[in-house]
Amino acid sequence: MKTQQLFDTLLSWFRPGQKTHVFYVEKRLKFGKYHVLHRDHCEVLPDVNGRLEVGRGSDMELMLTQANKHYQHVQLCQQCCKIEKPESIA
Ligand SMILES: [Zn+2]
Repeated sequence: MKTQQLFDTLLSWFRPGQKTHVFYVEKRLKFGKYHVLHRDHCEVLPDVNGRLEVGRGSDMELMLTQANKHYQHVQLCQQCCKIEKPESIA
């Protein structure tokens, strides 16, 4: 286990109100345009060979930033990464 992951795990224990997820970015380019960011429970999550682990946490925006270190164009998955904020309508 990496130090950062251990730290995140420990931190999550002290903050039980915040659900943490493992975030994955899909290696395959969707529609030839972008890579999709998923959470661990996603129905359309690719298998282990088709995804890269981005990190663990509850902050989706931070995970998106992390995913951007791997791929320039990353979009949140519509299945598992719905944002409830009303101003996020694209
Ligand atoms: Zn997903």
